[in-house]
Amino acid sequence: MPAPTEFLQFVDQNADAFIQRLSDAVAIPSISGDASHRKDVFKMADWLNDQLKAVGVETQLVDLGKHIMDDEELQLPPAILGRIGNDPKKKTVLLYGHFDVQPANKSDGWDTDPFTLVVHPTNGQLIGRGSSDDKGPILGWLNVLQYHFQTGKELPVNLKMCFEGMEESGSEGLDDLVKREGSGNGGWFDGVDCVCISDNYWLNTRTPALTYGLRGLTYFKLTVSGPSRDLHSGVFGRTVHEPMTDLIHLMGQLVSPTGKILIPGVDEMVPPPTEEEKAIYSGLDYSIQDIQDAAGAAIALSDDKVNVLMGRMRYPSLSLHGIEGAFSGVGAKTVIPAKVSGKFSIRLVPPQTPDAVNPLVIAYLQSEFAKLNSKNKLHIEDLHGGKPWVADHKHWNFEAAKRATEAVYKQSPDLTREGGSIPVTLTFAETLGVNVLLLPMGRGDDGAHSTNEKLDRSNFIEGTKLLGTYLYELASV
Ligand SMILES: [Zn+2]
Repeated sequence: MPAPTEFLQFVDQNADAFIQRLSDAVAIPSISGDASHRKDVFKMADWLNDQLKAVGVETQLVDLGKHIMDDEELQLPPAILGRIGNDPKKKTVLLYGHFDVQPANKSDGWDTDPFTLVVHPTNGQLIGRGSSDDKGPILGWLNVLQYHFQTGKELPVNLKMCFEGMEESGSEGLDDLVKREGSGNGGWFDGVDCVCISDNYWLNTRTPALTYGLRGLTYFKLTVSGPSRDLHSGVFGRTVHEPMTDLIHLMGQLVSPTGKILIPGVDEMVPPPTEEEKAIYSGLDYSIQDIQDAAGAAIALSDDKVNVLMGRMRYPSLSLHGIEGAFSGVGAKTVIPAKVSGKFSIRLVPPQTPDAVNPLVIAYLQSEFAKLNSKNKLHIEDLHGGKPWVADHKHWNFEAAKRATEAVYKQSPDLTREGGSIPVTLTFAETLGVNVLLLPMGRGDDGAHSTNEKLDRSNFIEGTKLLGTYLYELASV
Protein backbone atom coordinates (compact mmCIF):
# COMPACT_ATOMS: atom_id res chain seq x y z
CA MET A 1 0.00 0.00 0.00
CA PRO A 2 1.42 3.42 -0.86
CA ALA A 3 2.44 5.84 1.88
CA PRO A 4 -0.08 8.66 2.48
CA THR A 5 0.52 11.71 0.28
CA GLU A 6 0.36 13.87 3.42
CA PHE A 7 3.36 11.98 4.78
CA LEU A 8 5.42 12.74 1.67
CA GLN A 9 4.36 16.39 1.84
CA PHE A 10 5.15 16.56 5.55
CA VAL A 11 8.70 15.39 4.83
CA ASP A 12 9.22 18.09 2.19
CA GLN A 13 7.69 20.79 4.38
CA ASN A 14 9.84 19.87 7.37
CA ALA A 15 13.10 19.29 5.50
CA ASP A 16 14.87 22.27 7.07
CA ALA A 17 13.85 21.24 10.58
CA PHE A 18 15.04 17.70 9.88
CA ILE A 19 18.42 19.02 8.74
CA GLN A 20 18.63 21.15 11.88
CA ARG A 21 18.02 18.04 13.97
CA LEU A 22 20.77 16.23 12.05
CA SER A 23 23.03 19.16 12.78
CA ASP A 24 22.30 18.80 16.53
CA ALA A 25 23.16 15.09 16.33
CA VAL A 26 26.40 15.62 14.41
CA ALA A 27 27.48 18.25 16.98
CA ILE A 28 27.86 15.49 19.60
CA PRO A 29 31.26 13.85 18.88
CA SER A 30 30.16 10.33 19.89
CA ILE A 31 33.40 8.56 18.94
CA SER A 32 33.22 5.10 20.49
CA GLY A 33 36.84 4.19 19.79
CA ASP A 34 38.33 7.10 21.76
CA ALA A 35 38.14 6.87 25.58
CA SER A 36 38.26 10.66 25.91
CA HIS A 37 34.97 10.84 23.99
CA ARG A 38 33.13 8.09 25.84
CA LYS A 39 31.09 10.69 27.73
CA ASP A 40 29.91 12.03 24.36
CA VAL A 41 28.62 8.59 23.35
CA PHE A 42 26.56 8.60 26.55
CA LYS A 43 25.40 12.13 25.78
CA MET A 44 24.36 10.98 22.32
CA ALA A 45 22.42 8.05 23.82
CA ASP A 46 20.52 10.47 26.08
CA TRP A 47 19.88 12.85 23.19
CA LEU A 48 18.51 10.08 20.99
CA ASN A 49 16.49 8.60 23.82
CA ASP A 50 14.84 12.01 24.42
CA GLN A 51 14.13 12.41 20.71
CA LEU A 52 12.52 8.96 20.53
CA LYS A 53 10.36 9.60 23.57
CA ALA A 54 9.27 12.92 22.09
CA VAL A 55 7.74 11.10 19.09
CA GLY A 56 5.95 8.52 21.18
CA VAL A 57 8.46 5.68 21.40
CA GLU A 58 8.48 3.65 24.58
CA THR A 59 12.21 3.27 25.33
CA GLN A 60 14.63 1.67 27.72
CA LEU A 61 18.37 2.16 28.07
CA VAL A 62 20.12 -1.17 28.54
CA ASP A 63 23.35 -1.26 30.51
CA LEU A 64 25.84 -3.41 28.57
CA GLY A 65 28.47 -3.53 31.31
CA LYS A 66 32.11 -2.59 31.12
CA HIS A 67 34.99 -3.33 28.78
CA ILE A 68 38.71 -2.71 28.48
CA MET A 69 39.95 -0.34 25.81
CA ASP A 70 43.58 0.79 25.53
CA ASP A 71 44.31 -0.64 29.00
CA GLU A 72 41.48 1.35 30.54
CA GLU A 73 38.28 -0.05 32.00
CA LEU A 74 35.32 1.82 30.55
CA GLN A 75 31.57 1.69 30.91
CA LEU A 76 29.96 0.61 27.64
CA PRO A 77 27.40 3.06 26.29
CA PRO A 78 23.84 1.77 26.70
CA ALA A 79 21.84 0.20 23.91
CA ILE A 80 18.50 1.87 23.32
CA LEU A 81 15.56 -0.48 22.90
CA GLY A 82 12.37 1.16 21.72
CA ARG A 83 8.92 0.10 20.62
CA ILE A 84 5.70 1.50 19.22
CA GLY A 85 2.58 -0.56 18.71
CA ASN A 86 1.68 -4.08 19.70
CA ASP A 87 -1.12 -5.00 17.34
CA PRO A 88 -1.15 -8.76 16.71
CA LYS A 89 -2.71 -8.15 13.28
CA LYS A 90 0.34 -6.17 12.13
CA LYS A 91 3.85 -7.25 11.25
CA THR A 92 6.57 -6.32 13.71
CA VAL A 93 9.70 -4.79 12.22
CA LEU A 94 12.97 -4.40 14.07
CA LEU A 95 14.99 -1.32 13.12
CA TYR A 96 18.72 -1.20 13.85
CA GLY A 97 21.13 1.72 13.73
CA HIS A 98 24.16 3.07 15.59
CA PHE A 99 24.70 6.46 17.14
CA ASP A 100 28.48 6.28 17.59
CA VAL A 101 30.86 7.52 14.90
CA GLN A 102 34.37 7.07 13.58
CA PRO A 103 37.07 9.44 14.86
CA ALA A 104 37.52 12.71 12.94
CA ASN A 105 39.84 15.68 13.27
CA LYS A 106 40.00 18.74 11.08
CA SER A 107 43.73 18.02 10.76
CA ASP A 108 42.98 14.68 9.06
CA GLY A 109 42.18 16.72 5.97
CA TRP A 110 38.60 17.84 6.51
CA ASP A 111 37.70 21.08 4.74
CA THR A 112 35.40 22.05 7.62
CA ASP A 113 35.01 21.18 11.31
CA PRO A 114 33.81 17.52 11.28
CA PHE A 115 31.39 18.07 14.18
CA THR A 116 29.66 21.10 12.72
CA LEU A 117 27.18 20.10 10.04
CA VAL A 118 27.80 22.25 6.99
CA VAL A 119 25.25 22.52 4.20
CA HIS A 120 27.19 22.91 0.99
CA PRO A 121 25.97 26.16 -0.62
CA THR A 122 25.60 24.81 -4.15
CA ASN A 123 25.12 21.03 -4.14
CA GLY A 124 23.26 20.81 -0.82
CA GLN A 125 25.49 18.11 0.63
CA LEU A 126 25.22 17.78 4.42
CA ILE A 127 28.85 17.50 5.49
CA GLY A 128 29.87 16.25 8.92
CA ARG A 129 30.99 13.12 10.78
CA GLY A 130 28.07 10.73 11.17
CA SER A 131 25.88 12.50 8.60
CA SER A 132 25.73 9.29 6.56
CA ASP A 133 27.14 6.72 9.01
CA ASP A 134 24.82 6.38 10.80
CA LYS A 135 23.08 9.40 12.32
CA GLY A 136 21.34 10.43 9.09
CA PRO A 137 19.56 7.07 8.72
CA ILE A 138 18.58 6.96 12.42
CA LEU A 139 17.17 10.45 12.09
CA GLY A 140 15.32 9.32 8.97
CA TRP A 141 13.35 7.00 11.25
CA LEU A 142 12.76 9.84 13.72
CA ASN A 143 11.38 11.95 10.86
CA VAL A 144 8.96 9.19 9.91
CA LEU A 145 7.84 8.78 13.50
CA GLN A 146 7.40 12.52 13.95
CA TYR A 147 4.81 12.60 11.17
CA HIS A 148 2.77 9.83 12.74
CA PHE A 149 3.04 11.30 16.21
CA GLN A 150 2.08 14.84 15.20
CA THR A 151 -0.84 13.80 13.04
CA GLY A 152 -2.01 11.06 15.38
CA LYS A 153 -1.83 8.59 12.49
CA GLU A 154 -1.28 4.96 13.41
CA LEU A 155 1.79 3.23 12.01
CA PRO A 156 1.08 0.49 9.47
CA VAL A 157 3.34 -1.96 11.37
CA ASN A 158 4.53 -2.50 14.93
CA LEU A 159 8.05 -1.19 15.41
CA LYS A 160 10.86 -2.33 17.62
CA MET A 161 14.14 -0.45 17.60
CA CYS A 162 17.63 -1.33 18.67
CA PHE A 163 20.19 1.48 18.56
CA GLU A 164 23.73 0.96 19.79
CA GLY A 165 26.75 3.14 20.53
CA MET A 166 29.63 0.72 19.91
CA GLU A 167 29.24 -0.31 16.27
CA GLU A 168 32.45 1.37 15.15
CA SER A 169 34.29 -0.49 17.92
CA GLY A 170 33.14 -4.05 17.37
CA SER A 171 29.56 -3.79 18.73
CA GLU A 172 30.77 -4.86 22.14
CA GLY A 173 28.01 -6.12 24.37
CA LEU A 174 25.37 -6.19 21.66
CA ASP A 175 25.64 -9.85 20.65
CA ASP A 176 25.03 -10.90 24.24
CA LEU A 177 22.00 -8.65 24.47
CA VAL A 178 20.48 -9.98 21.22
CA LYS A 179 21.15 -13.59 22.21
CA ARG A 180 19.78 -13.07 25.72
CA GLU A 181 16.63 -11.29 24.58
CA GLY A 182 16.12 -12.93 21.20
CA SER A 183 16.36 -16.66 21.67
CA GLY A 184 12.62 -17.23 21.91
CA ASN A 185 12.38 -17.42 25.69
CA GLY A 186 9.98 -14.52 26.07
CA GLY A 187 12.75 -11.96 25.54
CA TRP A 188 12.42 -8.43 24.25
CA PHE A 189 13.14 -9.33 20.60
CA ASP A 190 10.45 -12.01 20.51
CA GLY A 191 7.75 -11.47 17.93
CA VAL A 192 9.98 -9.70 15.42
CA ASP A 193 8.98 -10.67 11.86
CA CYS A 194 11.82 -9.02 9.95
CA VAL A 195 14.78 -6.70 10.45
CA CYS A 196 15.77 -3.52 8.62
CA ILE A 197 19.29 -2.16 8.98
CA SER A 198 20.04 1.21 7.47
CA ASP A 199 23.82 1.38 7.78
CA ASN A 200 25.34 0.99 4.34
CA TYR A 201 25.43 2.67 0.93
CA TRP A 202 24.35 2.55 -2.65
CA LEU A 203 26.87 1.00 -4.97
CA ASN A 204 27.21 4.29 -6.85
CA THR A 205 25.81 7.81 -6.74
CA ARG A 206 22.83 7.18 -9.04
CA THR A 207 20.89 4.07 -8.19
CA PRO A 208 19.25 3.10 -4.88
CA ALA A 209 20.25 -0.34 -3.62
CA LEU A 210 19.06 -3.17 -1.44
CA THR A 211 21.82 -5.25 0.09
CA TYR A 212 21.40 -8.98 0.68
CA GLY A 213 24.90 -10.17 1.50
CA LEU A 214 28.03 -9.27 3.42
CA ARG A 215 31.39 -10.97 3.38
CA GLY A 216 32.87 -12.42 6.55
CA LEU A 217 36.48 -12.10 7.65
CA THR A 218 39.35 -13.97 9.13
CA TYR A 219 42.47 -12.03 10.10
CA PHE A 220 45.93 -13.53 10.64
CA LYS A 221 49.22 -12.44 12.15
CA LEU A 222 52.22 -14.49 11.09
CA THR A 223 55.41 -14.02 13.12
CA VAL A 224 58.87 -15.24 12.13
CA SER A 225 61.62 -14.83 14.71
CA GLY A 226 65.22 -15.96 14.87
CA PRO A 227 68.12 -13.96 16.28
CA SER A 228 67.82 -12.59 19.80
CA ARG A 229 68.42 -9.04 18.54
CA ASP A 230 68.49 -7.10 15.27
CA LEU A 231 71.58 -7.92 13.25
CA HIS A 232 73.90 -6.05 10.86
CA SER A 233 73.75 -7.33 7.30
CA GLY A 234 77.46 -6.63 6.80
CA VAL A 235 78.26 -9.10 9.53
CA PHE A 236 75.42 -11.62 9.26
CA GLY A 237 74.21 -11.42 5.65
CA ARG A 238 74.32 -14.91 4.04
CA THR A 239 75.35 -16.26 7.42
CA VAL A 240 72.01 -16.84 9.22
CA HIS A 241 68.37 -17.61 8.40
CA GLU A 242 66.79 -14.17 8.11
CA PRO A 243 63.23 -13.84 9.51
CA MET A 244 62.17 -11.22 6.97
CA THR A 245 63.25 -13.39 4.04
CA ASP A 246 61.23 -16.31 5.40
CA LEU A 247 58.22 -14.11 6.05
CA ILE A 248 58.23 -12.47 2.61
CA HIS A 249 58.48 -15.90 1.03
CA LEU A 250 55.48 -17.15 3.04
CA MET A 251 53.40 -14.08 2.33
CA GLY A 252 54.23 -14.44 -1.33
CA GLN A 253 52.61 -17.90 -1.34
CA LEU A 254 49.19 -16.67 -0.17
CA VAL A 255 47.66 -14.90 -3.13
CA SER A 256 48.49 -14.41 -6.78
CA PRO A 257 48.87 -10.89 -8.15
CA THR A 258 45.55 -11.38 -9.94
CA GLY A 259 43.72 -12.23 -6.72
CA LYS A 260 43.60 -16.03 -6.77
CA ILE A 261 43.91 -17.44 -3.27
CA LEU A 262 46.75 -19.97 -3.32
CA ILE A 263 45.84 -21.76 -0.08
CA PRO A 264 44.49 -25.13 -1.29
CA GLY A 265 40.79 -25.61 -0.64
CA VAL A 266 39.85 -22.00 0.13
CA ASP A 267 38.67 -20.74 -3.26
CA GLU A 268 37.38 -24.25 -3.99
CA MET A 269 34.83 -24.09 -1.14
CA VAL A 270 32.76 -21.55 -3.02
CA PRO A 271 30.34 -22.87 -5.65
CA PRO A 272 30.42 -21.25 -9.11
CA PRO A 273 27.82 -18.53 -9.74
CA THR A 274 24.46 -19.54 -11.16
CA GLU A 275 23.16 -17.93 -14.34
CA GLU A 276 20.62 -16.03 -12.23
CA GLU A 277 23.39 -14.60 -10.08
CA LYS A 278 25.44 -13.58 -13.11
CA ALA A 279 22.38 -11.77 -14.43
CA ILE A 280 22.11 -9.79 -11.19
CA TYR A 281 25.75 -8.66 -11.49
CA SER A 282 25.51 -7.77 -15.13
CA GLY A 283 22.37 -5.74 -14.39
CA LEU A 284 23.97 -3.64 -11.65
CA ASP A 285 24.42 0.02 -12.44
CA TYR A 286 28.17 -0.03 -12.00
CA SER A 287 31.04 0.18 -14.45
CA ILE A 288 34.76 -0.46 -14.47
CA GLN A 289 35.03 3.33 -14.55
CA ASP A 290 33.15 3.54 -11.21
CA ILE A 291 35.61 1.10 -9.67
CA GLN A 292 38.56 3.02 -11.04
CA ASP A 293 37.12 6.34 -9.85
CA ALA A 294 36.68 4.86 -6.37
CA ALA A 295 40.25 3.48 -6.39
CA GLY A 296 41.64 6.69 -7.83
CA ALA A 297 43.53 4.82 -10.57
CA ALA A 298 42.94 2.59 -13.58
CA ILE A 299 43.97 -0.61 -11.82
CA ALA A 300 40.91 -2.92 -11.98
CA LEU A 301 41.84 -6.62 -12.13
CA SER A 302 39.69 -7.18 -15.20
CA ASP A 303 37.87 -5.25 -17.91
CA ASP A 304 34.83 -7.44 -17.34
CA LYS A 305 32.42 -5.72 -14.97
CA VAL A 306 30.76 -8.98 -13.88
CA ASN A 307 34.12 -10.47 -12.91
CA VAL A 308 35.17 -7.41 -10.97
CA LEU A 309 31.85 -7.11 -9.13
CA MET A 310 31.85 -10.80 -8.25
CA GLY A 311 35.40 -10.36 -6.97
CA ARG A 312 34.12 -7.79 -4.54
CA MET A 313 30.80 -9.33 -3.59
CA ARG A 314 30.60 -13.09 -4.04
CA TYR A 315 34.15 -14.45 -4.06
CA PRO A 316 36.57 -14.55 -1.15
CA SER A 317 39.60 -12.27 -1.30
CA LEU A 318 42.95 -12.32 0.45
CA SER A 319 44.76 -9.04 1.16
CA LEU A 320 48.21 -8.43 2.60
CA HIS A 321 48.09 -5.56 5.09
CA GLY A 322 51.48 -4.93 6.62
CA ILE A 323 54.67 -6.10 8.26
CA GLU A 324 55.26 -5.21 11.87
CA GLY A 325 58.85 -4.99 13.05
CA ALA A 326 60.32 -4.37 9.60
CA PHE A 327 62.53 -1.38 8.95
CA SER A 328 60.11 1.19 7.55
CA GLY A 329 61.79 4.54 8.12
CA VAL A 330 63.53 6.74 5.58
CA GLY A 331 67.13 6.08 4.63
CA ALA A 332 69.10 2.93 3.95
CA LYS A 333 69.57 1.16 7.27
CA THR A 334 71.32 -2.20 6.77
CA VAL A 335 69.46 -4.00 9.52
CA ILE A 336 68.32 -7.64 9.62
CA PRO A 337 65.18 -7.42 11.78
CA ALA A 338 65.11 -10.07 14.51
CA LYS A 339 61.37 -10.61 14.51
CA VAL A 340 58.77 -9.63 11.95
CA SER A 341 55.02 -10.17 11.80
CA GLY A 342 53.02 -10.17 8.59
CA LYS A 343 49.32 -9.33 8.69
CA PHE A 344 46.80 -10.56 6.18
CA SER A 345 43.10 -11.23 6.08
CA ILE A 346 40.64 -13.18 4.00
CA ARG A 347 37.15 -11.87 3.24
CA LEU A 348 34.83 -14.88 3.34
CA VAL A 349 31.64 -15.79 1.50
CA PRO A 350 29.17 -18.62 2.16
CA PRO A 351 29.69 -21.46 2.88
CA GLN A 352 33.07 -20.36 4.24
CA THR A 353 33.43 -19.64 7.94
CA PRO A 354 36.52 -18.85 10.01
CA ASP A 355 36.18 -22.30 11.60
CA ALA A 356 36.31 -24.01 8.21
CA VAL A 357 38.99 -21.83 6.63
CA ASN A 358 41.46 -21.26 9.47
CA PRO A 359 42.74 -24.86 9.69
CA LEU A 360 43.48 -24.81 5.94
CA VAL A 361 45.41 -21.55 6.30
CA ILE A 362 47.43 -22.78 9.26
CA ALA A 363 48.25 -26.18 7.73
CA TYR A 364 49.33 -24.54 4.47
CA LEU A 365 51.58 -21.99 6.16
CA GLN A 366 53.19 -24.68 8.28
CA SER A 367 53.87 -26.88 5.29
CA GLU A 368 55.25 -23.99 3.23
CA PHE A 369 57.46 -22.98 6.14
CA ALA A 370 58.69 -26.56 6.54
CA LYS A 371 59.80 -26.51 2.89
CA LEU A 372 62.18 -23.64 3.69
CA ASN A 373 64.18 -25.77 6.14
CA SER A 374 64.58 -22.60 8.14
CA LYS A 375 65.90 -22.65 11.70
CA ASN A 376 63.77 -19.61 12.52
CA LYS A 377 60.51 -19.98 14.41
CA LEU A 378 57.04 -19.49 12.95
CA HIS A 379 54.08 -18.45 15.08
CA ILE A 380 50.57 -18.10 13.62
CA GLU A 381 47.71 -16.26 15.34
CA ASP A 382 44.19 -15.60 14.14
CA LEU A 383 43.30 -12.16 15.46
CA HIS A 384 39.61 -11.92 14.77
CA GLY A 385 36.94 -13.10 12.43
CA GLY A 386 33.28 -13.20 11.52
CA LYS A 387 31.04 -15.30 9.34
CA PRO A 388 29.57 -14.08 6.04
CA TRP A 389 25.87 -13.47 5.55
CA VAL A 390 23.52 -13.83 2.60
CA ALA A 391 19.76 -13.27 2.79
CA ASP A 392 16.92 -14.44 0.57
CA HIS A 393 16.37 -11.40 -1.65
CA LYS A 394 13.02 -12.76 -2.84
CA HIS A 395 11.56 -12.54 0.67
CA TRP A 396 8.59 -10.17 1.26
CA ASN A 397 10.87 -7.92 3.31
CA PHE A 398 12.93 -7.23 0.17
CA GLU A 399 9.81 -7.04 -1.99
CA ALA A 400 8.44 -4.26 0.25
CA ALA A 401 11.72 -2.35 0.05
CA LYS A 402 11.81 -2.78 -3.71
CA ARG A 403 8.28 -1.41 -4.11
CA ALA A 404 9.10 1.49 -1.78
CA THR A 405 12.23 2.31 -3.80
CA GLU A 406 10.27 2.27 -7.03
CA ALA A 407 7.59 4.52 -5.52
CA VAL A 408 10.02 7.12 -4.14
CA TYR A 409 12.90 7.04 -6.63
CA LYS A 410 11.01 5.87 -9.73
CA GLN A 411 13.77 3.31 -10.34
CA SER A 412 14.35 -0.32 -9.48
CA PRO A 413 17.00 -0.82 -6.83
CA ASP A 414 20.33 -2.51 -7.47
CA LEU A 415 20.50 -5.81 -5.58
CA THR A 416 23.95 -5.81 -4.03
CA ARG A 417 26.23 -7.78 -1.79
CA GLU A 418 28.81 -5.80 0.13
CA GLY A 419 32.50 -6.60 0.27
CA GLY A 420 32.73 -5.59 3.92
CA SER A 421 31.18 -6.79 7.16
CA ILE A 422 28.49 -5.60 9.63
CA PRO A 423 28.65 -8.43 12.19
CA VAL A 424 25.38 -7.60 13.94
CA THR A 425 23.54 -8.47 10.72
CA LEU A 426 24.44 -12.11 11.12
CA THR A 427 23.62 -12.03 14.83
CA PHE A 428 20.10 -10.83 14.08
CA ALA A 429 19.65 -13.31 11.23
CA GLU A 430 20.89 -16.31 13.21
CA THR A 431 19.43 -15.48 16.62
CA LEU A 432 16.02 -14.23 15.55
CA GLY A 433 15.74 -16.57 12.55
CA VAL A 434 14.08 -13.91 10.41
CA ASN A 435 14.90 -12.13 7.14
CA VAL A 436 17.29 -9.19 7.45
CA LEU A 437 17.35 -6.38 4.89
CA LEU A 438 20.03 -3.74 4.49
CA LEU A 439 18.30 -0.62 3.21
CA PRO A 440 20.89 2.06 2.53
CA MET A 441 20.14 5.77 2.70
CA GLY A 442 23.48 7.22 1.52
CA ARG A 443 25.49 7.05 -1.69
CA GLY A 444 28.66 5.16 -2.53
CA ASP A 445 30.78 8.32 -2.34
CA ASP A 446 29.66 9.46 1.12
CA GLY A 447 33.10 8.85 2.64
CA ALA A 448 31.67 7.11 5.69
CA HIS A 449 34.96 6.36 7.43
CA SER A 450 36.91 9.04 5.66
CA THR A 451 37.35 12.82 5.57
CA ASN A 452 34.53 15.18 4.54
CA GLU A 453 31.84 12.57 5.21
CA LYS A 454 28.57 13.77 3.72
CA LEU A 455 24.98 12.82 3.10
CA ASP A 456 23.29 14.36 0.09
CA ARG A 457 20.28 16.43 1.07
CA SER A 458 18.14 14.48 -1.39
CA ASN A 459 19.26 11.18 0.13
CA PHE A 460 18.24 12.42 3.57
CA ILE A 461 14.87 13.76 2.46
CA GLU A 462 13.94 11.17 -0.19
CA GLY A 463 15.56 8.55 2.06
CA THR A 464 13.16 9.53 4.85
CA LYS A 465 10.28 9.05 2.40
CA LEU A 466 11.77 5.67 1.43
CA LEU A 467 11.91 4.46 5.04
CA GLY A 468 8.33 5.54 5.68
CA THR A 469 7.04 4.09 2.41
CA TYR A 470 8.81 0.80 3.15
CA LEU A 471 6.72 0.44 6.33
CA TYR A 472 3.49 0.93 4.34
CA GLU A 473 4.59 -1.55 1.69
CA LEU A 474 5.48 -4.05 4.41
CA ALA A 475 1.96 -3.90 5.70
CA SER A 476 0.63 -5.14 2.36
CA VAL A 477 3.21 -7.62 0.98
ZN1 LIG B 1 27.82 2.43 10.25
